[in-house]
Amino acid sequence: MINIIDAFSMDEKKEKDPSEIIMAAIYSLNTHQFSDLMNSVSSEFRRHDHHLCSLLRSSTRFPLTLLHLQTISLHHKALLIARYLLSTLTHLTHFLETSPSSSSSLKLNLRDLDAALLLMLLCEVHQQAPQALQGSPAEWHIVLNDYVVRSRLLTLAGLGVSSSAVLTPYVDLTIKCRRFLDAVGCGDEMVREVAASVAAVVVLPSVEIGGCGGVECVICREEIREGREMCGLPCEHLFHWMCVVPWLKKRNTCPCCRFQLPTDDVFGEIQRLWGILITKNGMNSVKI
Ligand SMILES: [Zn+2]
Ligand SMILES: [Zn+2]
Repeated sequence: MINIIDAFSMDEKKEKDPSEIIMAAIYSLNTHQFSDLMNSVSSEFRRHDHHLCSLLRSSTRFPLTLLHLQTISLHHKALLIARYLLSTLTHLTHFLETSPSSSSSLKLNLRDLDAALLLMLLCEVHQQAPQALQGSPAEWHIVLNDYVVRSRLLTLAGLGVSSSAVLTPYVDLTIKCRRFLDAVGCGDEMVREVAASVAAVVVLPSVEIGGCGGVECVICREEIREGREMCGLPCEHLFHWMCVVPWLKKRNTCPCCRFQLPTDDVFGEIQRLWGILITKNGMNSVKI
């Protein structure tokens, strides 16, 4: 378990400053959107803090969740953290996205939320006070309770009172989201090739073609005939259904412009949302 904690706690890497990307995206919101963002983030922070406190108070959920974390693989732990961080990022990209939002299959159920919150807390404690976790896992219950009581009460008291009390931890969390991609080896410049989510594909519209001589489906190179039902991607490029469905089973990008559809791959989805932040703020030259 310490491996994933170390990976999550790693220091800043060489690339562009992710805080600038996040802040530019936040400043692009209008007043109402910013207020809605702060309200939704504040509400989620409170919900997660209540959930974590009840987990730490429970004499059954805590040991079961810790046992669960000790038995799952490193990859599974990385997925838990990634899904938690993805949910953080979607609060912001919700205001910037024009395509269907992230698949509900990536959302955490209550058991996974227990595991993700405990794992996140272990990461935080490891980073702030590494010696605190030197005892056996059986002793961590008291250590974690003490840590939360000492460090969270003051923070909680400020939540909802001012935007900065929410904004600062939110920006920190979204930056961790970007660094986590690097830590697990998914932050390369190349966008990973992942399938589009089924939920995103089934809601793609059918577009009846009027007169459009000379336009072709770039997958099969055949000219699009008038009166034919075509699949329209959110970027407005059109393809034969029989051509684009197999394509989207392998890649979530438009064959013409590389517009990305949502994916059920959590790391691919975080990459996609980061791409939205960068593009939205006229930072197309910055690659993630
Ligand atoms: Zn075609
Ligand atoms: Zn396109």
